[in-house]
Amino acid sequence: MDKDNMSLETLVVHGAQKPDPTTGAISTPIYQTSTFVFKDPDHGARLFRGEEEGYIYTRVGNPTIEILERKLALLESAEAGVAFASGMAAIFNTIISIASAGDHIIVDDTVYGGTYALMTKIIPRLGIEVSIVNCADEKEIESKIKGNTRLIFFETPSNPTLKVIDIGQISRLGHDHKLVVVVDNTFATPILQRPIEHGADIVVHSMTKYLSGHGDTIGGIVVGRREYIERLREETAIDVGSCISPFNAWLILRGIKTLYLRMIRHSENAYKVARFLKDHPKVERVMYPGLEDDPGHKIARKQMLLFGGMVSFEIAGGREAGKRLLSNLNLCTLAVSLGDTDTLIEHPASMTHSTYSDEECLKFGITPGLIRISVGIENGTEICEDLARGLEGV
Ligand code: PLP
Repeated sequence: MDKDNMSLETLVVHGAQKPDPTTGAISTPIYQTSTFVFKDPDHGARLFRGEEEGYIYTRVGNPTIEILERKLALLESAEAGVAFASGMAAIFNTIISIASAGDHIIVDDTVYGGTYALMTKIIPRLGIEVSIVNCADEKEIESKIKGNTRLIFFETPSNPTLKVIDIGQISRLGHDHKLVVVVDNTFATPILQRPIEHGADIVVHSMTKYLSGHGDTIGGIVVGRREYIERLREETAIDVGSCISPFNAWLILRGIKTLYLRMIRHSENAYKVARFLKDHPKVERVMYPGLEDDPGHKIARKQMLLFGGMVSFEIAGGREAGKRLLSNLNLCTLAVSLGDTDTLIEHPASMTHSTYSDEECLKFGITPGLIRISVGIENGTEICEDLARGLEGV
């Protein structure tokens, strides 16, 4: 069965995976090996020269990892993919495969705190100039584009303010200026949004999150056109050496089997939580693109199937009120990360986004009273009841 015959529900289960032809094992085998035997010295030399297909060494290629890469490419409507040890490794390798010293890149102002640190501290040390801009504003992007600009990078919905960026609009702008458009699709997953279908060139993910889904592993992926992905693998990924382990790849393959079901449930529960918070007197503002009056709702409707499981809100009373709420919860777990079956709640300004200075936090809307919830797949009413109890004590 190829992709053309499969719905997304079927693709998450069967895409790129079939029973092992040798043993009949239905679960994809974990090829937990670092190296692979050569038939003879000439065979080894042919593999190294690329004259024959086969496996050499797991940093260069591994059957379990390859299946995960093919699966993500299918789900994202991409031609190919390359997996990494983490989302951060995927993002770093993507940037350095496109931009070199003397180049310039454009990055949205609201991204995961680790990405912000990478873009503002490490990438500039390599001689690559970075402009931090609001990528929801086409004119602001355009004003920053120069002759040496190579790429635009953004998340949508963004972490932690759930800002929505029009992928089609920004891709058209980028392509008019011959720029590569890179979208971090971690929050939406390919179930809810496929940026390449809207014109983006490259999609990156922290597979640690919804793709794995169970909070038990770390991984990243980059998907795009075959020619680019093979260049990324050959010229960057293999020698930088940030490859994923076969076992972690297998855990993520297992997680993806239920991705469709989970994303529907996460979205239903998040909508319930967003509505509950919106009506609560101790909540000043709710950020969720599924709410009809959210500034990103119209664009989100255009490019997303549903609105995902992430909700942020501003609590009345700021930082101190937030701390009290986070100490008062039973079902919602105080932890960073997201996309797990369990509901996780955190305070971005002091945790995931502590890489932003206080001034930068305020400038980009990561206020002291902002709380981020990764709404899990538990009973939605019980999640709201826990939040209600917690807010009562504030
Ligand atoms: N992208 C987004 C949107 C994230 O939220 C994160 C982590 O929270 C990352 C990338 C980094 O992923 P990882 O933790 O797998 O390196």
